[in-house]
Amino acid sequence: MDNEGFRIPRRFVSRDAVDDELERLDKSIQAAAAEIAGRRDAVAQELGEQLAAIFEAHLLILQDARLRNELEEMIRQRHYSPEYAVSRTLRRYAQAFQRLEGSQLAERAVDIFDIEKRLLRHLLGRRREGIAHLTSPVLVLARNLTPSETANLDRHFVRGFVTEMGGPGSHTAIVAEALEIPAVVGTGPFLADVSGGELVVVDGDQGLVILQPDEETLARYRHEVEQNRTTAARLQSLSDLPALTADQVRVLLLGNIEFPYEVEHCVDRGADGVGLYRTEFLYLGSETEPTEEIHFRAYSQVVEAMAGKPVTVRTFDLGADKLPHLPPPEDERNPCLGLRSIRLALRHLSLFRTQLRAILRASALGNLQIMFPLITTLLELRQAKMVLADVMEDLQEHGIPFNRDLPIGMMVEVPAAVMMIDRFVEEVDFLSIGTNDLIQYTLAVDRSNRDVVNLYNPADPAVLRLITMAIEAAGRKGVPINMCGQMSSNPVYTMLLVGLGLRQFSVVPSAIPEIKHVFRHITVPECRAVVERVSSMENARDIGSFLRQELKRRVPGLGGE
Ligand code: PEP
Ligand code: MG
Repeated sequence: MDNEGFRIPRRFVSRDAVDDELERLDKSIQAAAAEIAGRRDAVAQELGEQLAAIFEAHLLILQDARLRNELEEMIRQRHYSPEYAVSRTLRRYAQAFQRLEGSQLAERAVDIFDIEKRLLRHLLGRRREGIAHLTSPVLVLARNLTPSETANLDRHFVRGFVTEMGGPGSHTAIVAEALEIPAVVGTGPFLADVSGGELVVVDGDQGLVILQPDEETLARYRHEVEQNRTTAARLQSLSDLPALTADQVRVLLLGNIEFPYEVEHCVDRGADGVGLYRTEFLYLGSETEPTEEIHFRAYSQVVEAMAGKPVTVRTFDLGADKLPHLPPPEDERNPCLGLRSIRLALRHLSLFRTQLRAILRASALGNLQIMFPLITTLLELRQAKMVLADVMEDLQEHGIPFNRDLPIGMMVEVPAAVMMIDRFVEEVDFLSIGTNDLIQYTLAVDRSNRDVVNLYNPADPAVLRLITMAIEAAGRKGVPINMCGQMSSNPVYTMLLVGLGLRQFSVVPSAIPEIKHVFRHITVPECRAVVERVSSMENARDIGSFLRQELKRRVPGLGGE
């Protein structure tokens, strides 16, 4: 899919439709030519003949007899649809120009793409295909996908996706993990080098995208897929065993979910509960604001499926750019620093109260706890708790059942919250470290910007100090603390976190077996020794490679990211 959301599937036309399809192609060429001629004349008049020559060149390419013959051959002989023939042929032309690097002709590739787009617009017209109605398996290759577009991908047909933009900490990547489909984000430009119907390998483990792989590469990947399947089946056998370290220390292994159906992924893998339910996806997946009933149904489904195990429902963590039901803010230049998350909830109380009512009603059905995101100041936490108390009173007045003692917790994901953590622990029942944002705000690195992705590192000593402070403060007060940021799903950091005293991990469900496997190979004294070594190191690179090495040494067969 390009910027305009075009999808060009490899389609074939039946033998008796060939003449009609050729006629459709000719009509589109004529319409596109008329459009270009119109542009040429307008530009000539306003800006002069010299600039108009660009459009003259487009016209010449479009009306070139060789191009027409080539397209006809593809449609007549190979029965390709005109759309597919146009996309394939013109992309091949563009690539030929791009290969003339350093020459002025290389820039002509842009013109070719322009012509391709124009022709496709005419050919596809209203029949333009999005990814909403898929009928066969595809890979989605796109410039960018928003979290809500990703959330709406059809899990049955989308076998993987790749985006040119974004970073591994972005919600788009997080949703890919929830959907359990391979994905690579933030590759940089590559879409010009592919067209529909080509063979592509998406290697989500290594972050690689291989266009037109050769036989050897394909064979290697097929083998790897088989191996992964065998390992997954082997690890699956751990699902009924408790998460214990080799020296028998019990660790809670919870799951992070974005959609209610994922609760099954948690149950299947033997999760000890749900440590983070990102409820904002209820809003992102729908055109209208979800009603209290929609909220309630989602939360009760999760709570009931977990059958008495704890479920932490986080109130919505929407960014200003991600709320279709409210007017967009006037001037939001730094959405990460703007009206997002709990700030937005406290500003739009009726939205917030609707969700709180549903959460409270679901609390009567099982072991539910509530958590507020992005808490930065004590005042904010107190305000959120006051709104909750107010909604409780309301329910009570109307005789609606709920758990008055439901545990109330907060995310620790802003450095300010860590600096004040000794005060916060006095006012909450539990804490959850959100490293995805904590890293972003500590290191001043946008988690979804591919240009600074190399600076976004959980192993940075500044981040590790903040995590240590939070775990220690919680320990002193006896307040339970878990980590639900992606760092906890990465086996590279398991020893370090256990060594720091973390005894609750909330991870992406697919990582549960692997992390449990790591626990079973390590002891607490070994993990403490790891912390000791790391505390003398000064940069993320050294820490990262030391941790990888340790993992490899203790847990054979694991050692990657
Ligand atoms: C985090 O910031 O680490 C977190 C778990 O929340 P989210 O990724 O939804 O921002
Ligand atoms: Mg966060």
